[in-house]
Amino acid sequence: MSNLLVRGASILDPVTGLTEADLLIDGGRITEVGSRLPAAGVRVLDADGMLAMPGLINAHTHSGQALDRGSTPDLPLDLWLTRVVLAEMERSLDDVYTTAAAGALEMLRTGCTAVLDHVFLDYDDFSAHADAVISAYRDVGIRAAVAPMAADLGHAETWPTHLLDDEEQPPPPTPRHDPQRLAGLMETFIEEHLDRDPRLNPVLGPNAPQRCTDEYLALNARIAESHGVGVHTHLLETKSQRIATLARYGESVVDHLDATGLLGPRTSLAHGVWLSPEDIATIARRDAIVVHNPVSNLRLGSGIMPMQQMLEAEVTVAVGADGAASNDSQNMFEAWKIGTVVHTLRGPFQSWPTPSRVWRGMLAGGARALAFNIGRLSAGALADLVLLRLDRHIPSDVESLTASLAFAEHGGSVEVVIVHGEVVWAEGRSTRVDEAAIGRSARAFQRRLRETATARYREVEGQAERLTALEAVIEQTPTTLERRLRPEPDPQ
Ligand SMILES: [Zn+2]
Repeated sequence: MSNLLVRGASILDPVTGLTEADLLIDGGRITEVGSRLPAAGVRVLDADGMLAMPGLINAHTHSGQALDRGSTPDLPLDLWLTRVVLAEMERSLDDVYTTAAAGALEMLRTGCTAVLDHVFLDYDDFSAHADAVISAYRDVGIRAAVAPMAADLGHAETWPTHLLDDEEQPPPPTPRHDPQRLAGLMETFIEEHLDRDPRLNPVLGPNAPQRCTDEYLALNARIAESHGVGVHTHLLETKSQRIATLARYGESVVDHLDATGLLGPRTSLAHGVWLSPEDIATIARRDAIVVHNPVSNLRLGSGIMPMQQMLEAEVTVAVGADGAASNDSQNMFEAWKIGTVVHTLRGPFQSWPTPSRVWRGMLAGGARALAFNIGRLSAGALADLVLLRLDRHIPSDVESLTASLAFAEHGGSVEVVIVHGEVVWAEGRSTRVDEAAIGRSARAFQRRLRETATARYREVEGQAERLTALEAVIEQTPTTLERRLRPEPDPQ
């Protein structure tokens, strides 16, 4: 990696604040931050009049959905899943590559340099699918933590249909996939990719505790421990899941995860909308990370995450876009904005999180969830940064600048994107891949997705009808947690 000197930028860093300095980059890392650094023998990037900030970090998405934008209506999660998972279109390895590449390009061009991809990979063609996703990330040049999303129970078997008082009570869930075999696939994946590529980290990704047997969760805890890797999972996204997990475990799913050994500083938990105050205390004690997915939570009516309670308990809160089937963009400026303003619906104004607070969580939590030394512009950190034009923003102080970036920026000011010390985006285009060719494949995929939708949805109509009835019961089920604006029934 050749040396690079970023000269004369206004530097915005979550710890040192706002300064004017040069940045020296060598071997993928920032080696020095200071004024008038010597330029002999290095490539100089003149950033005079620009802002340098750490690349934004997307700590939860599903690359397989990157081209699904606009394809599903707003529906409660379980109903929405019938369209996205049960009625999913078959995908070739080229489709898998194209969707991951298109999603990665969307992130880079809007200032996001690192992603945690909770990706579904076909278990029967696992390593070929994994390679397609990883090749896309390598080609585009984004930094990625890849967490293969795995579950040994079927989605449909874990919905709380026991609440429906009808004839067809389902049997308790039994594994659809052999937990030992799945764990073997995951362990091989970890061994193949750990410490092989400085831009790629493997992470374990059990889909959600209630979609796994205890045996499979325990295997994940063992693999995480023996290889020192992170664990990423969905957790308490909806009221339905809170009800279903309480019924299944007879205790909070957070306590259940904790007892399985899966709750620790390398664990990141996507959503956490329906965490109770006791759950939040447990997560704080274990120093696990919660990943806030504000747009997806609003789009599917899941509710508003208790951000103020988490920040008060000093839980690290990262930010995710979530998949494009529930967002529908991968723009982290947008997630930052919505993830800040949505919390004014709750609590006194003094408790509302500021844009800078949400941003610090996005960077510190994202770095920890992805297990990279990123999110800082300081000596020793990996050189992932974004240069923005300052025609829309005034770099006067951290609070007003981060407010301006969160609330008024959509990525249109992004001029240069650097990942691992390499310029991967400049002059409005990728420096590495043929975006027009990826765009053509992407549009062909999207047309196929639309053309096959009616037939695919017809196949899940029966399930959808049952889940519509279930949603009515869930609406009426009492809870002490307030996560939505519609009144919940009184638990008395
Ligand atoms: Zn998700």
